[in-house]
Amino acid sequence: MSERFTILKTNEEVSRRIDELAAAISADYCDITEENPLLLLCTLRGAVFFAADLIRKLTVPSEINFLKVHSYQGTRPAGSPIFDLGERIDVRGRYVLVVEDIVDTGQTMDTVIRNFSDKGAADIRICTMLDKPSRRYPQLKETVVPDYIGFEIPDLFVVGWGLDYDEKYRLLPDIMVYHPDAEEGKEQ
Ligand code: 5GP
Repeated sequence: MSERFTILKTNEEVSRRIDELAAAISADYCDITEENPLLLLCTLRGAVFFAADLIRKLTVPSEINFLKVHSYQGTRPAGSPIFDLGERIDVRGRYVLVVEDIVDTGQTMDTVIRNFSDKGAADIRICTMLDKPSRRYPQLKETVVPDYIGFEIPDLFVVGWGLDYDEKYRLLPDIMVYHPDAEEGKEQ
């Protein structure tokens, strides 16, 4: 009988990788000033844990704000992403780093990037904890390319470390592959 959850990345592996990402981002944005700090836009709710750890390790002036985005129902996309892009977030002239939990088809990040480019951001980059490049829509392969990636993973449905399955399992400390059809009662 197969298990419902298998570990893909341990909490320790994720933490170590966040240290590396924070060092790379801090180096790349070393010219950022207190007058125009880096603006981290964290997607709700999956990326909250990742963004909270990341921003506390950055050594450049930074601010954080949040975007509500959701497109998944169960283990498959529910259609076009639903956005509340927070009309009050003024990105004109700002250096924006979108912090995402996982990039899959690329639809979500494509819409976010377009929206904030139209609103006059000086620069927009993507930092994602996980990337599933094999799932990218063909038309987005060239345009949705995250600048900072925690881990590239195959086409698997994952939970934990902020990622949910219909609002469950977000608090699992490791990133786990979820097999919804496996035997009940094998949750960790
Ligand atoms: P995209 O628009 O790139 O297809 O989807 C991005 C969003 O889909 C992510 O922010 C996340 O909410 C959801 N998603 C994609 N793959 C997974 C996955 O393996 N596990 C979970 N929990 N959510 C996923």
